[in-house]
Amino acid sequence: MQALRWHGRGELRLEEVPEPAAPEPGQAVVEVAYCGICGTDLHEYRHGPNLIRTSPHPLTGLAPPITLGHEFSGRVVALGSPVPGVEEGTRVAVDPCLRCGTCRWCRHGEYHICAKGGSVGLASPGAFARLVTVPVEGLVPVPDGVSDELAALAEPLAVGLHAVRRAAVRPGDHALLLGAGPIGIAVLMALKLAGAAGIYVSEPAPARAKRAAELGATEVFDPAHTDVRREVFLRTGRVGPDVVIEATGRPELAALAVTTVRRGGRAVLAGISGEHVSVPLTQIVPFERTVLGSLGYNFDIPRVLDLIATARFDPTPLLTGVYPLSRGPEAFAELESGSHLKILLAPEER
Ligand SMILES: [Zn+2]
Ligand SMILES: [Zn+2]
Repeated sequence: MQALRWHGRGELRLEEVPEPAAPEPGQAVVEVAYCGICGTDLHEYRHGPNLIRTSPHPLTGLAPPITLGHEFSGRVVALGSPVPGVEEGTRVAVDPCLRCGTCRWCRHGEYHICAKGGSVGLASPGAFARLVTVPVEGLVPVPDGVSDELAALAEPLAVGLHAVRRAAVRPGDHALLLGAGPIGIAVLMALKLAGAAGIYVSEPAPARAKRAAELGATEVFDPAHTDVRREVFLRTGRVGPDVVIEATGRPELAALAVTTVRRGGRAVLAGISGEHVSVPLTQIVPFERTVLGSLGYNFDIPRVLDLIATARFDPTPLLTGVYPLSRGPEAFAELESGSHLKILLAPEER
C-alpha cells in the first residue's frame, strides 16, 4: 500500500510499504477514511526530528523512516482483542496515544503523560496510508450522524477541549487566547462552550484573525500593532483575564501568558518548544498565578464526538481542504503557505 513516510528533516516520501500484519492481542487494524495533517507533522517535516525519535522508541522499538498521521477516522477491519461495543466494520475515530499500561500514570488514568508514551504516526506507523495498526484502547466508535470527515477532526478539537478543561474555565470567565491556528480555533470553540463571557484573541495573521472573529471571539487583536496585555486589562475592568491560553509554542508568548493573566489566574501553556523562557518569580509568587502545561488530551476524543453529534461543536470551519493521499506532499506545501487551517488526506484505494 501507499504511505507518506518521514525519512528525516525535509524528507517526506510517498512510497510503497507492506500492509500491516494481523493485529496482536491489544491491537486493531483500521482502514483509514481521512487523516488530518497536524502542525506537529509539518514541524517534524521542516525542523524535525522533534517528537520522532531517531533511535528505537522504548515502547515500540521503531525508528524512522516512519509513516506520519495521527488525526484520523476509519473503519475497524481486524481486532486482536475483543473490545466492548466495537466489531469489524465499526466506524471509529482513534485516540493515537501509545501507552505502556503499567506505569504510575497509566494506572492513574493519565495515559497521555505515560512515562514511555508516544503517538501512532510518530512512534509507530501512522494513518497516511490505507491501513494502520492502533492500540485497542484508542478505538472510539463514531456516533451516527457524525461524518468520517468531521470524526477525523475530533483529535485536534480534543487538544483544545483538554486545554480548556485544564484551565478550569467557569461561566462568566474572561479568557485571552494567544494564537488562532488549528489548536487556537479548537480552544476558542471550547471556551465558548465553557461559557466564557469574554474571549479575547491575539493573532497577527489577517485570515486567522478574521476566522476567529467569525467563530465568536469577543475581540481579536493584532499583536504587531497593539499592546494586547493592556487592551485586555482595560476590557476586564483593570483586572486582567481569568485565564490565558498559549496555543502557539512560541516561548515569548508563554512568558506573556504568565505575566498577562490576572492575580490568582491560570496560564495554560498548550504549545511546545524546546527553548527556554524567562519569567521573573516576582511575576508568579506574589500574584499567586498558576502556570499549567496541557499536553494533547486524556479521554477527550469521545467527549468531542458526543459534542459534534449533539451539534454543540461544529468543526466544519476548521476543515479547509481534502486531498487524495497521493497529493500529500503538495498538501504539506500548501499548509505551509498559511492560508489553510486543516487539510485531510484520503487514501484512494477504497
Ligand atoms: Zn496533532
Ligand atoms: Zn505508562
